[in-house]
Amino acid sequence: MTFDFDLFVIGGGSAGVRCARIAAGHGARVGIAEARFWGGTCVNVGCVPKKLMVMASEYGAMPDDARGFGWTIAPGTHDWRTLIANKDAEIARLNGIYRRLLDGAGATVFEARAQFLDPHTLLVGDRRVSAARIVIATGGRPLPPDFPGAEHCIVSDDAFFLPERPQRVVVFGGGYIGVEFAGIFAGLGSEVHLVTRRALPLRGFDEDLRTALAEAMTAQGLHLHGGTEIRAVAAEGAARRVTLADGTQIAADLVFVAIGRVPNTEGLGLDAAGVATDGFGAVTVDAAQRTSVPHVYAIGDVTNRINLTPVATAEGHALADALFGPGPRVWALDRVATAVFSSPPVATVGLTEQEAALRGPAEIYLTRFTPMRHALTGRKRRSLMKLVVDQATQVVLGAHMVGEDAPEIVQGLSIALNCGATKADFDRTVGIHPTAAEEFVTLRTRTRMAEGPTPQPEPDAQPLGAAEIGAAEAGVGA
Ligand code: NDP
Repeated sequence: MTFDFDLFVIGGGSAGVRCARIAAGHGARVGIAEARFWGGTCVNVGCVPKKLMVMASEYGAMPDDARGFGWTIAPGTHDWRTLIANKDAEIARLNGIYRRLLDGAGATVFEARAQFLDPHTLLVGDRRVSAARIVIATGGRPLPPDFPGAEHCIVSDDAFFLPERPQRVVVFGGGYIGVEFAGIFAGLGSEVHLVTRRALPLRGFDEDLRTALAEAMTAQGLHLHGGTEIRAVAAEGAARRVTLADGTQIAADLVFVAIGRVPNTEGLGLDAAGVATDGFGAVTVDAAQRTSVPHVYAIGDVTNRINLTPVATAEGHALADALFGPGPRVWALDRVATAVFSSPPVATVGLTEQEAALRGPAEIYLTRFTPMRHALTGRKRRSLMKLVVDQATQVVLGAHMVGEDAPEIVQGLSIALNCGATKADFDRTVGIHPTAAEEFVTLRTRTRMAEGPTPQPEPDAQPLGAAEIGAAEAGVGA
């Protein structure tokens, strides 16, 4: 049987674009469909615009910080519209680059929705196309809330296009997005309340990181409401009244809900192809990204495994190489470094103290210090660095940091951990002075052992109930 394409990719985000262009580069006849925006979540309503907004928020404290260095800078005012317009222009530029990468690689581009008609046939816009192999790379979308008044809230997709900066913001959700946007709004001058159902934000991260971040956010003036959740939101004209489960009432101008993301699988016609999903709606795949239908693959957030852009691009690249190139590339997906661009940022690679302790005795090396810059600024902002070392082998199992430049520093450390570096390797490494990063190679004294009865990681959250998934699929909420 002949097909229109050797490979058809549904979704033009990080995973899909990489897969399509590498496959086309290997000589495959490739089609790719994207209905919304090239670059997907990361480029348009995720990592990239978020990081620009984090950068914008960091300028807020600079006039004050500069005083200790002898500068007199009058506190400025921030123009939200300028930020959004400049961000939009940069995103438009990146959209164009993504599109041109595909054209340049020789892929056939469709700006339309695609859905399965049968295992080898898709309806793309109003055209039927057939493909020998099909890749599902449709990503995910924010999970909308389902409490009373959910329609008065926004989710992250909306936050990038607000006409003006809200003065009083309630952020609900203690994950990446909640913590990052809490820092953005606070840095730009808003009053921010962060509501998390756990006592501390960032469940799953090292406990010392979580505590240090919560302390830093509080020192910065954010209001943290841990161990509770939003019960209801009422509109009072343009304002919002938020009622928490513990009875607290908060007056706000914006309620921003960031309680996770769900895979984009509805409307794809997966039944027509026989592609299986799990109870959360994610496409189930094996280690080779194969779905329940052998010639249909899935990559990126739609598989709901490690929902990070670099993992999605790695999966797309590896799949294209495996199908049409010299063989699969191998990425170290068991030790993926990750960062939360909170204020201050958090970055981590490898096992937490709590995870390591479950495997056996581990040595903990920890330091907290005021970065050199803040010795003069007077800002109450401390950094934390931590190594988790396997006692028996001396292999460094985890490296964790809260503090300025943490993502830049931990990216480098992740190479060492992926190479199996031991504590002795760290110790014989000469530092760069004066930097914060050098602390990671000068941690001489063990702080404590992690063994015996250790704090257990908090249990996983209850899986979403059918009602929550149903609400998500109906697109209820903002
Ligand atoms: P996360 O999964 O990171 O966090 C979700 C948060 O919402 C958790 O604090 C969770 O609490 C809480 N939550 C979930 N359900 C409920 C509920 N029903 N009621 C109250 N609280 C709830 O999701 P995000 O939306 O923040 O981000 C989605 C994903 O996007 C991330 O997991 C990450 O993979 C990716 N991302 C990565 C970024 C980066 O690399 N810097 C930046 C932004 C996003 P609990 O912990 O108790 O479950």
